[in-house]
Amino acid sequence: MNRNAICLLLVLFSVFTSKCDATENLDVKGTVYLPGTQGYIDAFSASWNSRATTRSPAMFVYVQDESDIITCINYAQRIGLKITVRGGGHSLRSTVDGAIVIDTSRINYIYIEHDNTTVRVGAGCKVGAVTKALQDFGLGIPTGTNEDVGIVGLSLLGGQGYLTRKYGLLVDNVVAYRMATMAGHIITVNSSQNADLFWALRGGGGRFGVVTEITFTTHPQQPVYAGTMIFDASGINYRASVQAWLGIRAMAEQAMERRLCIAPIFTNIPGSAPGSFRPVAIYIIFWDGPADQGQSII
Ligand SMILES: Cc1cc2nc3c(=O)[nH]c(=O)nc-3n(C[C@H](O)[C@H](O)[C@H](O)COP(=O)(O)OP(=O)(O)OC[C@H]3O[C@@H](n4cnc5c(N)ncnc54)[C@H](O)[C@@H]3O)c2cc1C
Repeated sequence: MNRNAICLLLVLFSVFTSKCDATENLDVKGTVYLPGTQGYIDAFSASWNSRATTRSPAMFVYVQDESDIITCINYAQRIGLKITVRGGGHSLRSTVDGAIVIDTSRINYIYIEHDNTTVRVGAGCKVGAVTKALQDFGLGIPTGTNEDVGIVGLSLLGGQGYLTRKYGLLVDNVVAYRMATMAGHIITVNSSQNADLFWALRGGGGRFGVVTEITFTTHPQQPVYAGTMIFDASGINYRASVQAWLGIRAMAEQAMERRLCIAPIFTNIPGSAPGSFRPVAIYIIFWDGPADQGQSII
């Protein structure tokens, strides 16, 4: 073996051992899944978009708490890995080639505080869990419409849903964040502490650090009248249908949210052949008030 070949082997060996050492040094309370393990393969199933399986993260780390997040950040900085965070896993941006994926799903506490006026949620909470917890206290926040979406991921991008006409975007209801910085510190971000970051986080996406917790303002919430109606739209007058929909008087009211979609889709409309294509009109209505009121309006 010539000298160049020996040098190359030594370099490869030192790269290999340094990665192995670094992996062993990732001392978290949570769980680390490396490529080649069943846990790594299973970890992709938490991503809503199946295209995530085409990505090759360096590892998935299911963190247990804030200190695990700091450990991951320091580790990634030390060995030069990219960092990404996965909350609800509803976007592809949380599964990145070559990155350490910090999965926050185990940080899922929900505390209702200050005489029920605020709720403090861990970074791994999903919309459905937060909504259900608040419902028991007659409270609500303007989340998105899908219960499986992560509450942090949703709020970092705005967060629009049925209560938005009344209370604004989810991000408009943030009182404070706790965040792990890339320097490895936990900071509080609100209108008086790190106020510039507070401005940036409310709509600027998730690239400023790892949010570990959010406090939201809550609102009294009564039962609502809501649902989806699907009609066979063969032969309907589309223009008249849309105009009638737009004309509903209650739309000017904050209590009403409505969506209309007219599209050719596979349907199970009674009378149509199974699996056939039929144009349908889908009306989604949401009335923030008693059922009898909602019924009379709709
Ligand atoms: C089926 C479906 C329904 C949807 N419905 C709605 C809706 O009704 N209203 C609406 O407004 N939007 C809706 N969306 C869009 C959705 O809110 C965004 O895609 C949101 O960013 C998803 O958040 P997540 O935590 O589930 O996803 P993730 O992929 O886990 O995260 C999304 C982004 O936020 C970052 N992020 C997550 N957690 C953290 C953290 N702790 N710190 C820093 N960065 C973080 C991730 O790195 C990534 O860039 C929907 C999306 C889908 C697929």
